[in-house]
Amino acid sequence: MTDPVFVCGARITVLAHPTAPREVIGMKLRCRCAEHPATTPHHDFAGEAERPGPFAVWARWRDETSRPVLGELADCLLEEGREDTRRYCVLFSGHAPPCSWQIHDPEQQAESLLAALGIDWRE
Ligand SMILES: [Zn+2]
Ligand SMILES: [Zn+2]
Repeated sequence: MTDPVFVCGARITVLAHPTAPREVIGMKLRCRCAEHPATTPHHDFAGEAERPGPFAVWARWRDETSRPVLGELADCLLEEGREDTRRYCVLFSGHAPPCSWQIHDPEQQAESLLAALGIDWRE
């Protein structure tokens, strides 16, 4: 049996600065990767990519004092195959293992449960 892998979950709010696109200012980001060393950046999904295809915009940041940088990354492909049968994990290609379905995220599970019960605890 292997130990469960937990989500990193580091948070940052995007502050206004000259290079930040307006639509991301105030966005609350939470790292979706598995726990990782401080030497690798945090990542959160920041939107759909403008070009068609299996790409998404990801915000990347070092720590809570740094500014998130946006960039398009390819989706993490799980299974090759025909376009309609290909499967992707929710992370980006080249992320540190494991893939998203193997990452435990108790907070996300609690949020889904509360949402299913119709409880909004955030505001
Ligand atoms: Zn992280
Ligand atoms: Zn993956």
